[in-house]
Amino acid sequence: MIILSGGTGSPKLIDGLRQLIPDKEITVIVNTGEDIWSSEVFVSPDVDTVLYLFAGILDKTKWWSIVGDTYNTYNQMKELGQNEILMLGDRDRAVNLVRTHLMKNGQTLTEATAALVKGFEIQANIIPMSDDFITSVIETPAGKIHFQEFWVSQKGEPEILSFEYEGIENAKLSPAVIEALSREEHVIIGPSNPMTSIGPILALPEMKEILKTKKVIAISPIIGNAAVSGPAGKLMAAKGLEVSSKGVAELYKDFIDIFVYDIRDDVIDPAEIEAMGIQAVALDTMMTDEEKRADLAKEILKLFEMDFETVL
Ligand code: GDP
Repeated sequence: MIILSGGTGSPKLIDGLRQLIPDKEITVIVNTGEDIWSSEVFVSPDVDTVLYLFAGILDKTKWWSIVGDTYNTYNQMKELGQNEILMLGDRDRAVNLVRTHLMKNGQTLTEATAALVKGFEIQANIIPMSDDFITSVIETPAGKIHFQEFWVSQKGEPEILSFEYEGIENAKLSPAVIEALSREEHVIIGPSNPMTSIGPILALPEMKEILKTKKVIAISPIIGNAAVSGPAGKLMAAKGLEVSSKGVAELYKDFIDIFVYDIRDDVIDPAEIEAMGIQAVALDTMMTDEEKRADLAKEILKLFEMDFETVL
């Protein structure tokens, strides 16, 4: 079982899957399109969220950072006039320091992630989508800024003139991703931001072609005409896309078999999805607690016709 993931919507679904199948049967291909250098540390925010989820230390009220982390370093730096874009906690920073140290000593992001997986004694296979540095840049009326600055420092407020994945032209899927995809039949595209989380993974050469050979289920992060959370709607609109589940299905239509939308969605016309040659399935996708996350995961496994048992 492979799941393509960003750092919020898909990790919620993974949290549900973990209640049904053993971690060692889960492979997560993680977006690195939001990666950023911050105060000499290489931060891969979505990889970290997935690591902390499997390590059992993720703050599930925010879906980022380590639960109970302290901010002494961040605050001391701020006092000294260093305003960091990302609010890295002390333990979080330690993890990122280890990654940066390994990478500065010649390891790829994939190798450094594998070392962290081992360090946290995680059984799942967590692989960054690429070893090449790709980053999402937003053009605003005041100039180009990193996605993290747009979203974290400027609270998603600036007008978006355009946005792009810098570095994507020369980037490739990592060998580990290609290897994982070669041995797995079932792929879930989690309900992550189609622009900043799933978009970069799909933009890598070969990815869409490989997905066409798999059984793929995508879950919509949009209900009606708005994202459940985050800037997905604003980014889709900036790209001229319809902010709706249909708009998401349009992006994925060439390589998915089943499209899951929310039962509360009163804008979607499932016949329009079926007309794209995709099976449309309505489920409760609002993963507000552990039970709801497991319930949605259970329905997805049923759609794959997979055997599972509750492992908790
Ligand atoms: P990021 O890396 O932190 O931006 O997170 P993701 O891209 O993984 O997830 C953000 C997306 O998840 C947003 O577009 C939300 O609409 C979606 N999302 C968050 N929670 C839920 C949920 O419970 N259900 C569904 N369907 N979508 C969700």
